[in-house]
Amino acid sequence: MILKIVAAITLFSALLSVPAAEILARTSFHGGFHLWFILFFMLFEVLLVLAVFERRAPIFGQIFWKGAPGKNLVALTFDDGPNEPFTSQIADILKEKKIGATFFIVGQNAVRSSGSIRRLFDEGHELGNHTWTHEVLPLKTPARIGDELTRTSDLIEKTTGRRPALFRAPHGWRNPWVNMVARKCGMAPVAWTLGVWDTDRPGEEEILRRTLAGARDGCILLLHDGRGLEEGADSSQLVRALPKIIDELKRRGFEFVTLSEMMGNSG
Ligand SMILES: [Zn+2]
Repeated sequence: MILKIVAAITLFSALLSVPAAEILARTSFHGGFHLWFILFFMLFEVLLVLAVFERRAPIFGQIFWKGAPGKNLVALTFDDGPNEPFTSQIADILKEKKIGATFFIVGQNAVRSSGSIRRLFDEGHELGNHTWTHEVLPLKTPARIGDELTRTSDLIEKTTGRRPALFRAPHGWRNPWVNMVARKCGMAPVAWTLGVWDTDRPGEEEILRRTLAGARDGCILLLHDGRGLEEGADSSQLVRALPKIIDELKRRGFEFVTLSEMMGNSG
């Protein structure tokens, strides 16, 4: 996906840079500058696209996206909730399997069902911040980003008594201020190792297959109990696949930890 975006932008910028370089060449520069200008422009565009859209890129600041190998740890993370009845169904499964996970909460969704996040917290799961509106951040100012993060952290703290320590941007998209604002709000910016695109609803078997094919030592697995702000978004495929995912990863010898536990084990 990211490679396609980079390829498209590179092509676009190459096309754009030709007339731009032409104009420059005609006004003040000689012809030798032409090619360098195009190359520089293309490189800049590629770096910019990677910085914004590639969740693991350190261009806009370091981000935790995988645990250290050698400890057989896996972290399950669920984004875009709470979204009932699926969040509770996932909590039931985690309780039965006796494992802890991390939920990245969307503030507006939490307003609808604050009881859900209270339960997750009481049962030992970690709650992270996933913005208030789930709008993408790259075009937002530091003040707007700060508002998104603070409102959500305030609500989580009001409901559970604890402020979140982790922040994950919607789709992992960032701009130069996202990491800085997250840290200012007391949170570490985090991404993920493996996404299985479960919100596309590819079927329970496909979710299982993608997860088991990609899961590795130190893996942060991105799953969803909701989808953006969609009320009652159907996450039943994941709910059906989840017990099988957990059982198979346990059989492979992995231990399940929250994201903060994994970060503590990776320092
Ligand atoms: Zn999300």
